[in-house]
Amino acid sequence: MAGGHEGGTALPAEALFADVVGQPEAVRLVRASSRRPVHAYLVVGPPAAGGRVLARGFAAALLCPAGGCGRCDSCRLALRGLHQDLVEIDRPAAALSVDDARRVVRIAQRRPSTAPRQVIVVDGVDTGRLAAAVLLKTLEEPPGPTVFVLLAEAVPADLATVASRCVRIDLPAVPAGRIAEWLRSQGVEEALAAELAEACDGSIERARMLLGDPGFLAHRSLWRSVPLRLDGTGSAAAGLASELLAAVDETMVALHQRHDEELAAGVSDAETSGSRRGPRKELEERHRREERRWRTDEIRAGLGVLAGAYRQRLVDAATRMDASGPARARSDELMHELAGAVDAVEAVVGELVRNPSHTLMLEALFVRLSAVGG
Ligand SMILES: [Zn+2]
Repeated sequence: MAGGHEGGTALPAEALFADVVGQPEAVRLVRASSRRPVHAYLVVGPPAAGGRVLARGFAAALLCPAGGCGRCDSCRLALRGLHQDLVEIDRPAAALSVDDARRVVRIAQRRPSTAPRQVIVVDGVDTGRLAAAVLLKTLEEPPGPTVFVLLAEAVPADLATVASRCVRIDLPAVPAGRIAEWLRSQGVEEALAAELAEACDGSIERARMLLGDPGFLAHRSLWRSVPLRLDGTGSAAAGLASELLAAVDETMVALHQRHDEELAAGVSDAETSGSRRGPRKELEERHRREERRWRTDEIRAGLGVLAGAYRQRLVDAATRMDASGPARARSDELMHELAGAVDAVEAVVGELVRNPSHTLMLEALFVRLSAVGG
């Protein structure tokens, strides 16, 4: 892995925000705020833009006895989301619930255990209208030394009152070109950097994980080969679906490794400090959510490659289009089929989060794509 937090001589800002790429404004604002923080911050941007990573860097600066040295135990634990006085409410699968919000209100009432204050990060605060209403009073008058960092994709009208109680930090999407540039600066060669930037969907965290996956390029070509391998039979469609899903599971090796490390670190932290939070159970739950999200992201990225393969065929068919006669009719038909294939793949991308049966979904898609000529 390139980069990382371990650089012994790195300046604090670089150590704490090494993983926040292409967001200089947000990092500047957070660094300035960490000296004399207000009660609540609202970070607005797509989840891939790095809000959670920014929040951890901010928390490290707020919890460290030296203001964010990037080297001490406090910084190290905060950057990994394991600090006792950092509470993270993960982005909910559907919507932030009133129970989640009540839990946050309860936590806000307790005293920090080791640091001078506690930091509560609530992801997806734009997803639950009632939950946001429950949080409002606590945001206005936090009972203890608490700093809230709320993360939202957008600020809908429902969230306007909450937003007005917070300092807003905008975190725009990072363009693929900027991610590719950053990867090259980390020593990644150009072609791989371009593929990674395309596959990571704007997320540096994901780009880092993919960089650690030795099968990354092979998996991309596997998805690209789908149109060639569908022979019109149901067994080819089913075989391909299970092969691709097995490949997706293989990509989780790096994620599992990170989870094992977090569990080891979290458990030893709990043993030495007598944690009241039972980090193992919380961590395991978070890990399960991360696995689900990773699997969905991987399939989405693969489907993106597949849609791209059909789009390329469509362009090829258009360039060699025959001018007239029966050949022309055949070309038109083929282009129509290819456009339909792109639509079918993109429709599945839209269903991905809601549909838990990825196997059936891919099989059905491949059967549908088997009818497309090439
Ligand atoms: Zn420190």
